[in-house]
Amino acid sequence: MLRILSLKFILLIFFIGISTFGYAQVKPNLGNTSRLLSQAMGAMEREEFNKANEYFRQIIQSNAPIPPEMPYLFAETLFHLGQFDNSLNFLNKYLDLNGFKGEHYEQAKELQAKLAPKIEEIKACQLCDRKGYRLVDCSTCNGTTHLEQDCRICRGNGIVGCSRCAGKGLVTKKNVFNIVEYYDCERCDGNGRLTCPKCEGDKIEYGECRTCQGTGHIPSEKLCDHQDQTDLSDKRTSFRMPFSPH
Ligand SMILES: [Zn+2]
Ligand SMILES: [Zn+2]
Ligand SMILES: [Zn+2]
Ligand SMILES: [Zn+2]
Repeated sequence: MLRILSLKFILLIFFIGISTFGYAQVKPNLGNTSRLLSQAMGAMEREEFNKANEYFRQIIQSNAPIPPEMPYLFAETLFHLGQFDNSLNFLNKYLDLNGFKGEHYEQAKELQAKLAPKIEEIKACQLCDRKGYRLVDCSTCNGTTHLEQDCRICRGNGIVGCSRCAGKGLVTKKNVFNIVEYYDCERCDGNGRLTCPKCEGDKIEYGECRTCQGTGHIPSEKLCDHQDQTDLSDKRTSFRMPFSPH
């Protein structure tokens, strides 16, 4: 009873809140979504695709239901911004959700055709990642692909727990009278710990850079134009080396 009363009370406060502070402060999500959607479409008409992108992202972040035509409109916007991989994701989502019944089905098919060669360019280019972002030298290994890092096995401690005695330093054995007796663990001489077998106590190991998984480069924020720049020509070999042509 008390809980129901307090719920009513909260709801009352809530409605008072709406009427006192007005529509602007407590916006119903659906109205918000349709407002943002029409703002996004207006921006698209004016070819202000960066603005449209912001409105679409606000809709996604609001966690309100996504209007059924929005994935197409967002895909179109992303296409104009050169984010082809992301554009294809939303286009596929649109076609999955609406099939040929979608209001923008014809345009979606056209966009699909326009995207295909762009996606092929990304796949064929070795200067960008599979989303089309330009690769730069990995800042952890400076593009060298390998370096000294904390040993993975001992996490840079140089020692590991003995597995035979579970780190206790003692093992139990039953004697001829079936009585349990304790002995120092032979493997770790009763210490419970062993020198790390991987780094032999050095705490570091030389191996593949974990930031770039040994490729020597990481994607930047910059979309790739798939053009080799002359000032990067001396780095070209390091870009191309880890890839096998396919
Ligand atoms: Zn042991
Ligand atoms: Zn180690
Ligand atoms: Zn690296
Ligand atoms: Zn590229």
